[in-house]
Amino acid sequence: MKTTMMDVPLSLNHLLDRAGRYFAASEIVSRRPDKSLVRHSYAQWHRRTRTLAAALAALGLLKGERVATLCWNHHAHLECYFGIPAAGGVMHTLNLRLAPAEIGAIAADANDRFLVVDDILLPLYRQFAPLHRFERVIVVPFSGAPVPAEFTDYEALLAGVSAADEANFRYAAHDEDDPVSMCYTSGTTGKAKGVAYSHRSTILHTLVGNQPDYWAMRNTDVLLPVAPMFHANAWGTPYAAVMMGVKIVFPGPHLHPDDLLDLMQIEPPTLALGVPTIWLGLIQAYERALAEQPGRWKLPRGMRSLVGGAAVPEALIRAFDRHGVWLLQGWGMTETSPLATVSYPRQELAGAGSDERYRRAAMAGVPAPLVDLRLRTEGGTEVPPDGRTMGEIQVRGPFITGSYHGVPVTADKFAGDAGDGGRAGGGEGERWLRTGDVATIDALGFLRITDRTKDLIKSGGEWISSVDLENALMAHPAIAEAAVIAIPDEKWSERPLACIAFKHGASATPEALNAMLLAQGGFAKWQLPERYEVIDAVPRTSTGKFWKLKLRERFAK
Ligand code: ADP
Repeated sequence: MKTTMMDVPLSLNHLLDRAGRYFAASEIVSRRPDKSLVRHSYAQWHRRTRTLAAALAALGLLKGERVATLCWNHHAHLECYFGIPAAGGVMHTLNLRLAPAEIGAIAADANDRFLVVDDILLPLYRQFAPLHRFERVIVVPFSGAPVPAEFTDYEALLAGVSAADEANFRYAAHDEDDPVSMCYTSGTTGKAKGVAYSHRSTILHTLVGNQPDYWAMRNTDVLLPVAPMFHANAWGTPYAAVMMGVKIVFPGPHLHPDDLLDLMQIEPPTLALGVPTIWLGLIQAYERALAEQPGRWKLPRGMRSLVGGAAVPEALIRAFDRHGVWLLQGWGMTETSPLATVSYPRQELAGAGSDERYRRAAMAGVPAPLVDLRLRTEGGTEVPPDGRTMGEIQVRGPFITGSYHGVPVTADKFAGDAGDGGRAGGGEGERWLRTGDVATIDALGFLRITDRTKDLIKSGGEWISSVDLENALMAHPAIAEAAVIAIPDEKWSERPLACIAFKHGASATPEALNAMLLAQGGFAKWQLPERYEVIDAVPRTSTGKFWKLKLRERFAK
């Protein structure tokens, strides 16, 4: 028997037109370099996005060609999210926090044809320009300064398309499997590799992400994406916002905690997202102001906050909850679009009490629908769901990458169906992505990330989780940040070194910290840090995560 359902491809164009038609009055607010706010209605954004698509088509953009963006979070970047695919192109978000040489190498690897760049990022562009030639560089006059004559002015490009041309513009024909965007892994642990998302993967990811236990965007929400739009597409939230007609407040280049708190007073969000370090900085600034300048800021009560990209310390979840803000943790990767698991309340735990609630919230959570997940030991056997045994997470699903751009599929990145015994999967359907993350899973399906494979500390044949130690240390009232790395040891092969940054004016002795880890953290003596190093702050990666590689370079010699 054949289906009688229509064969309609999943498409971003559907979201774009739906937003223009039904949510014309919803607002998109962007903070400009001078901190003023610029506002667009969805109706204006819809027209501008279609105009951009028409302009790119008129420039001769061909199906599948890449258009890079080097932009902060703002309305024009959102226009690229939909306008570039509408013209048949692939939006390739460049990470503006990488070294210029890396950005140039990534643009060359992706063979980007055009570039859309913020005017305030032109100095950065000029540094990597010799490494890759873009046929055309389109400059967003974000600061309002005139665009240098050698470039194409984004606004002038849009103004050059007549209303009739915009109205007559037809979306490029496409299949649902055609690529719409591309993002390179940020290379925290290795060379950056390209992941290409399709119409289909993006729409499915958007639908899953919007489930009630996840980010659950409603039309009445106000979204503040602090996570950069170049970091796994701000985790897909811009698509979800457009799908539901949600008001979006883009912070532009102003990501300092004081700036974010200021912005929250003017445009209070109901939903915000960012990596844990963003929220660590924010809560410190907020609590300090409560003591020193009461009344300066108010955290929006009832705000939900999506946090992921790195382990979320339980102490951080508790701290925000004290101020009426709930942190919802997810685990994922650029390769997984990125949502793969979320930690949410479960009916089985309804009577379990608040300690259990916080403990669960500090876990990575339960696999999302459409995500198949398994844990494999080093020997390739299935890890039992006992919440104790560790193994590598392997995933597959319709929004999980099955390969990297221009890179052969190898057994160290993809496992076959039968096991990971050194064999890359034959057909794509039986391929599992090897995440390089190590976790435990319990009977309710909650993952607890214990480490990245590279960060695990192997001491005397036993594994010590650096994440567990960090979380316990960050629960100490004197500690602002903690990162634990392995240092070589003759007897034990490796031992943990804890790098700690104290809160303003606070301190604690190694003895006191060890006593706390033994008494409250549940650690055994052999798991305690071998040594402590006091640092000013943990170095950050290009996506704002703790950068342990830098600490290893400094201390693990
Ligand atoms: P990079 O690997 O360069 O950091 P990604 O942003 O794609 O680039 O990061 C994905 C990685 O971030 C995951 O493999 C995992 O190690 C880490 N990660 C993401 N979410 C969490 C989480 N909730 N807890 C612990 N680690 C996380």
